[in-house]
Amino acid sequence: MSNKIKMDKPVVEMDGDEMTRVMWTWVKKELLEPYVDLKTEYYDLDVVNRDRTDDKVTFQAADAVKKWGVGVKCATITPNAERVKEFNLKKEWPSPNGTIRKILDGTVFRAPILVNNIKPAVRFWTRPIIVARHAFGDIYDGIGIRFDEPGVAEISYVSSTGKVKKVSYPKFSGPGILQGVYNIDKSIEGFARASFRYSIINKLDLWFATKDTISKVYDARFKEIFNGIYEREFKEEFARNGISYNYFLIDDAVARVVRSEGGFVWACKNYDGDVFSDFVSTAYVGTLALMTSELLSPEGYYLSEAAHGTVQKHYYRYVKGEKVSSNPTALIFAWTRGLKRRGEIDGNHELIEFSEKLEKAVTDTIEKEKIMTQDVARIAETKNNKVVDSEEFVHAIRASLDELLRK
Ligand code: NAP
Ligand code: MG
Repeated sequence: MSNKIKMDKPVVEMDGDEMTRVMWTWVKKELLEPYVDLKTEYYDLDVVNRDRTDDKVTFQAADAVKKWGVGVKCATITPNAERVKEFNLKKEWPSPNGTIRKILDGTVFRAPILVNNIKPAVRFWTRPIIVARHAFGDIYDGIGIRFDEPGVAEISYVSSTGKVKKVSYPKFSGPGILQGVYNIDKSIEGFARASFRYSIINKLDLWFATKDTISKVYDARFKEIFNGIYEREFKEEFARNGISYNYFLIDDAVARVVRSEGGFVWACKNYDGDVFSDFVSTAYVGTLALMTSELLSPEGYYLSEAAHGTVQKHYYRYVKGEKVSSNPTALIFAWTRGLKRRGEIDGNHELIEFSEKLEKAVTDTIEKEKIMTQDVARIAETKNNKVVDSEEFVHAIRASLDELLRK
């Protein structure tokens, strides 16, 4: 009988492309399968397989996450014209992440993976700052007009039962531009619930910020929805977990973020999330390979992945037989977070403990052994770092893991 950790239910495994696909196999073979009796429901999201199945496999994978609750995803190619030629595809299939996000209606949470030899650009930061981005509506689905004479404009809304609401812009005295944006209550509610749930799961305070003093209809509605859902559904659970919900004006929030020591979730509207997730990740760790990216849906469906792409340039060198130093950390954390979530849902403490030890093995390898990939070595503080290729890095992590498991 093997003494590997058992799993009751599977996680949905979505395989991907290029260098991340190669590293995915190494991670499974070296860091998971020797220790865990890995149960997965496998979907191959390799671009060629998506093409062969007319992208059905992506939809099946997302539906499987609805069935099993937890998925882990490798990075995948979003084909453009070049890729269509390279792989002889039928068409430019849409981004799998976009498709999956639409099906699960998720909010994306991005957090830095902290190691003590990378110093954040903001010296006060010691605990992670997780940006939760509402990935729906606002300017990303906005419309605009550029006009070249003085004139007037209005926004008019006609309901499905024929009710009409109209507002006018100020008179335009000359050429200019105008924009219209929208959002939907249901989507904002989903964003709010996902943010509250994520904060509870991770026992972190939640911050939400908009400019409701200026945007008295639009941003004010976001604030109202967040506050209402908090009061009705999450206040008690927040209190039980010793965490708090705080609403700020967005400019105040930015100043507070920089002055803070971290240790909270920052829920951001779509554009704010786009800008501030890049700002926080660059200021914190400086490489996408040291970021987690987790999607949580209002129903509690969960998907973890790496924040970066397929590392195409490294892959082309790898295929030619060169050793490459791509960093598998974000892929490893995609697995550990997925397994941890599985363990939490199923009450599988061994699986949770293993996931946490594997994460510690990664950070120990970088911090204590000073063994790291090229991208980390470029920004790390310590001297005498050992820069290794991806496979050597995985082996070093395994050694650290075995050490932790012996304790
Ligand atoms: P990328 O794969 O993120 O890589 C861009 C550059 O970032 C790399 O060339 C490398 O820099 C560095 N990098 C990223 N991940 C790294 C890692 N794990 N270790 C070390 N360095 C890393 O982005 P891309 O080259 O623009 O995109 C390649 C493919 O990925 C595209 O087909 C795109 O559609 C897809 N993509 C997928 C996702 C997703 O599935 N979530 C996200 C983004 C992009 P150096 O070359 O300087 O070492
Ligand atoms: Mg951005």
